[in-house]
This record gives sequence, structure tokens and C-alpha cells, in this order.
Amino acid sequence: MVRAVVGANWGDEGKGKITDMLGQESDIIVRFQGGANAGHTIVNDYGKFALHTLPSGIFYGHTTSIIGNGVALNIPILFNELKEITSKGVPAPKILISDRAQIVMPYHVAFDCYEEERLGKNSFGSTKSGIAPFYSDKYSKIGFQINELYDDIDYLKEKIARTLEVKNATLKNLYNKPPISVDEIFNKLMEYRDALAPYVADTFTFLHDACKDGKNILLEGQLGSLKDTDFGIYPMVTSSNTIAGYGAVGAGGIPPYEIKDIVTVVKAYSSAVGAGEFVSEIFGEEADELRRRGGDGGEFGATTGRPRRMGWLDLVATRYGCRVQGATQVAFTVLDVLGYLDEIPVCVGYELDGEEIDYFPSTTKLKRCKPILKKLPGWKCDISGIKNYEDLPENCRNYIEFAEKEIGVPITMVSNGPAREDIIYR
Ligand code: GDP
Repeated sequence: MVRAVVGANWGDEGKGKITDMLGQESDIIVRFQGGANAGHTIVNDYGKFALHTLPSGIFYGHTTSIIGNGVALNIPILFNELKEITSKGVPAPKILISDRAQIVMPYHVAFDCYEEERLGKNSFGSTKSGIAPFYSDKYSKIGFQINELYDDIDYLKEKIARTLEVKNATLKNLYNKPPISVDEIFNKLMEYRDALAPYVADTFTFLHDACKDGKNILLEGQLGSLKDTDFGIYPMVTSSNTIAGYGAVGAGGIPPYEIKDIVTVVKAYSSAVGAGEFVSEIFGEEADELRRRGGDGGEFGATTGRPRRMGWLDLVATRYGCRVQGATQVAFTVLDVLGYLDEIPVCVGYELDGEEIDYFPSTTKLKRCKPILKKLPGWKCDISGIKNYEDLPENCRNYIEFAEKEIGVPITMVSNGPAREDIIYR
């Protein structure tokens, strides 16, 4: 059975924890899109980890972790992460990297930085991980697939030279930066070739066979629906599709109809990183307090350490986010954080040009939307440690059930703490 764990919001919903939990029942865990521009935070017996590239399944001895063809692979980050986890006592995981995955080149990271600098106040708030330049090159057909490292070296050199012609012209004329030499890139790729060799595999065939054999496969999404290139708050989105459906492309070998279960992670309040529309955003002391108390040790980016933008649970955006994913069930996370509030505002509609709407519009209209808030009574206590749904305070259950009704998808799991075992099944 193929199951996906994806986010309904702007990312940072707690997918890492849910993936880590569901990893226990999985044979194979696959990352299928994105790159090191987002991170999953996982707390388990080995410690606390921020993973940017490795699949969250690497902590289990029985799983195979796959980096799919849809991923933007930053090779130095991959090896740093591997070193970090093994130095903390995690046994060396079984990892396969798709021979069709493409490489984040050193100049992708540089171009991301230069472009954000050039854009100044109009910048995207990029994590400067090279993701937008990477995907631009991929679709411009000047990216480098891993298999190319093991083929005709002369051809590879010639392709690097061809690609650098364009890059160097831009460096010189647009960014006023020094050019990059063919040898520098070629030598780097040769380094990558040797380091990657033990991991590179035809993951398409591996996953195709695994599907046929009825293995449990978990697709691990990055970011959330509202950052999807097509369905998110374009252009303030990420440069890959964050939706479960894309798993059939970015994992490779998995037919779309095999993705039977789409666990969509929804955070009990909202946070976002980077620029872009965020209708239920809050500011000032109200936001600072939620940020301070949020997540596991505050709402600060796992990749950049930047303070996240904060807001109340946006049920309009979340309903849409779940539809975009094709959610079959919802995992409702970080609920324990809200225990300090007397009343909890939730966004139940948008006001657009004086009219109330209940759908999530495209960006030009979204810019004009104002939140319509409803206040639900708080429960004013610490719910961490509770294991049974019935033991949650009544107001807390009412909050969950109100959200479930508005979202229109069953909330089957409630997360009330960062650890693997902090979960309530309904
Ligand atoms: P991801 O990218 O979707 O995996 O999310 P992040 O890892 O960036 O953010 C989730 C943060 O919340 C992490 O610090 C988690 O350890 C933490 N977290 C996840 N679930 C819960 C929960 O139920 N309660 C609390 N307090 N923290 C949680």
C-alpha cells in the first residue's frame, strides 16, 4: 500500500514527526520533491534532528530510504546530514538515490543568493538553497541527472561548458560577479560521483517491484499545499509540486492509483515562512507569544532559524489545502501549544470586496481578502501526555470537531507533543 504524508498549509505542520511515526509500519520511505530548502524536525530516542534532505525513515533499521527523481539533491548537505546522524549513534541507514535525480549545482545556490539580493525589497524570501535556479534549469533541460556522472566524461565536460556559457553571461552582465570555470564544476562533479556511487540505484524499478509485491511505501512530502507551484500562493511558492499526486512523478515507479491513503497534516494554528499571502496572520505581542510557545521550542525555521510568521488556524485555506492534496485523513498537530489561550480565534471565512466567501481564491483576489474570525473557548490547561481522545478537555474536543467539520476530512490523529509517542488516535 502506498501512503503519502503531506502538508495542508504553508509547511512546518509537523510532517516530520508524523512520517517518523508512520515509518514504523513502512518498508520504504521516499522523498519525492523539493530540496534542502525546508526541514523536518524529528524528536526520537536518538535526540532531536533537523533533516533537510534525508527521508525521515532513516531512524528505523527495517526501512529503505529513497531520494526520488523529483528531489533537488544537494550533495554536500546530504553527506553532512549522514555524518550528523551517525555521529549521534543512529545506525548507518539504507539509502537509495534515484539515478534520475538531479544535482543542485554550486552555481544554483550562488544564483539564488544573487537574485534575492538583486530583487531587494521584492525578494521571495528564499532560503537561498538554490531551489528556484535548480528547477528552472531542470525544465530548461540544462540540469544534470546523476546517471550522467557515470557516463561519457567528454560529453559531460562539453555539457558543462555549454551550460556555463549562459551562466557566465548572466554572472557578468546581470550580477557583476566573476565567471565560473569548467574545471571547477567538473572537479566538483567528479567528487560527487565517487561519494554517491554506493547509493545510486534505479529506484524506478525498485519502487515498481515494491508496489507489485505489496510493500508498504510512505511518500514524504515537503512544505504544504499553499506553497505548491500550481495551487499555492503563486509566485510566493516553492519551485516544485508539494502535492501527494506529484508523488507518482517524483517518486517514480509508483502508479497514481496506488496512492491509497493521503495523510494530510494540519497545524492547530498557522505559521509561514517567506513572503506571500497569509490572511489569518497576526502581529505584535499576540504573534510573539504564539511564536515563543509554538512547536518544540518556538516557531523558528529548521533551515534558516528565521522567526516564522504566525497566524490563527485558517479553515478556508486548510479546507482548500486538504482538497488540493486529496486528503483521506487529517493529522491535527501542535494542539498542546494552544492551552494558554482563554479564547482561540479561527478564520472561518474571507471578506472579499465587501462579500463573504468560503473558498480560497487565486492570488490576485487573495491579496484583497480579510479574515472573518470566530472565537472558540480555550481549555486553559496542558493536554500533553493525554493518550485517549475522551480524556481531552471538552473545549479541546470541540475545537478539533469544529475544525474537522469545516475541513470536511476526518481528523484521525491528534498530536499533543513533539515526541513520537505524543499522539492520540481517534
Ligand atoms: P515539518 O516540516 O512539517 O516536519 O514541520 P517542522 O519540523 O518544521 O515543525 C514542526 C515543529 O513542531 C517541530 O519542532 C516539531 O518537533 C514540533 N511538533 C510536531 N508536532 C508537535 C506537537 O504536537 N506539539 C508540539 N508542541 N510540537 C510539535
